Amino acid sequence: MSLRYDGKVAIVTGAGGGLGRTYALELAKRGCKVVVNDLGGDRHGTSSSTSMADKVVQEIKSAGGQAVANYDSVEFGDKIVKTAIDNFGKIDIVINNAGILRDVSFVKMTDLDWDLIFKVHVKGAYSVTKAAWPYMRDQKYGRVVVTASNAAIYGNFGQANYSAAKSALIGFANSLAQEGAKYNIVANTLVPTAGSRLTQTVMPEDLVEALKPEYVTPLVMLLTHDSFTETGKVFEAGAGWYGTLQYYKSKGKVVPNATVEDLQKNWSTITDMSGAKATANMRDATADIMEALEQVQQQK
Ligand code: NAD
Repeated sequence: MSLRYDGKVAIVTGAGGGLGRTYALELAKRGCKVVVNDLGGDRHGTSSSTSMADKVVQEIKSAGGQAVANYDSVEFGDKIVKTAIDNFGKIDIVINNAGILRDVSFVKMTDLDWDLIFKVHVKGAYSVTKAAWPYMRDQKYGRVVVTASNAAIYGNFGQANYSAAKSALIGFANSLAQEGAKYNIVANTLVPTAGSRLTQTVMPEDLVEALKPEYVTPLVMLLTHDSFTETGKVFEAGAGWYGTLQYYKSKGKVVPNATVEDLQKNWSTITDMSGAKATANMRDATADIMEALEQVQQQK
């Protein structure tokens, strides 16, 4: 095992089952001290228990690793980080993994369905990372992972709440990547596909069985290792396939003083994706607009 995490301390949220459990086990196996956080509730985020986190801590300890349980909801990130500081004296790695589903068509969605999803996914990732951030800045080291979903990018029927929350996390990680760069804090987004308690409701049983969470684990290990310095990116994993995702922008067209009719006339050129360019940051994203502005100003 050449990639080791000796001397490192990680928080894995929602590590009592599914994907998070595999991250906690593998990190611990490779020498990392792990806070196994899990509220131990049901998949809709409505109950709690200590048993899920305890079980994983037990598994780690019986394999000779070091871990401590934390049962707080991710909304209370300061308590989870305190568990790391009190037990292990520092925090190096935060894997924001805890999640729930409240799938329902938009017409039937309640405020509670919307708010609970945002509380766990968005407020949760914010709260845990926010509490860890000063420690990471001071020690000039940090590895942060947020967990998004294909639903964040493409949308999904019955998941307006979940898609919106997961998509918020991509912007969150990309901004942290920029603010953390000076402090050797790396932040990336993971898009996993795996069979779990969460996907049991949307996947047939044989697929749940076949898409083992363990296929995702090595990517998360890489993203949280100190050798990994790529930041502000989206990485995907599932069933042994690994990849990355980028935004592309059409060449577009400058249409001076456009009317809506002008846009309609030029629509195929505006949206033509042949010759599209990858955009990796705000500068790339606004380059065409700044160029158009220059042209307009020169014409004045
Ligand atoms: P899972 O239900 O097995 O694991 C989620 C864990 O989070 C559970 O153990 C749960 O108890 C815990 N949890 C829920 N609310 C919590 C809270 N408030 N505080 C602390 N812990 C809490 O599901 P999973 O598939 O392993 O999902 C892990 C993450 O991956 C989630 O964020 C999920 O949205 C995301 N994801 C999963 C898939 C997939 O295919 N499995 C796809 C896309 C995204």
